Amino acid sequence: MKSHRKELWFETKTRRAYINITPQVEAEIRASGIREGLVLVNAMHITASVFINDDESGLHGDFERWLEKLAPEKPYEQYAHNGYEDNADAHLKRQVMGREVVVAITEGRLDLGPWEQIFYGEFDGKRRKRVLVKIIGE
Ligand code: ZN
Repeated sequence: MKSHRKELWFETKTRRAYINITPQVEAEIRASGIREGLVLVNAMHITASVFINDDESGLHGDFERWLEKLAPEKPYEQYAHNGYEDNADAHLKRQVMGREVVVAITEGRLDLGPWEQIFYGEFDGKRRKRVLVKIIGE
């Protein structure tokens, strides 16, 4: 069995952002040389997510409004976590949107459904943060 590990770095200009990272994950699969296996993609920070959904800007706006209803950023003092920080909402948004995805690799390619794309979801940005890509197989 072969394995391949890569960290992808992000620094968003806004506090919240959704970035389609499917091309970067595909590039790592090519670099790995693995034809049959699995790829794990996970956020390495507790205020960011990796998830799979549609690359459609209306839906991304819907995510933003829905998450702001569930866990509004402000007022900061509504959260017990915000004694030293202001990012309690980002922890809660990450919890809802998830930590990681696992995707099958078949014949050297991501074996995704027709509209599935892999996203990095940032909820407390404007600083350097990482996503781990781990590929195993043969
Ligand atoms: Zn925090």
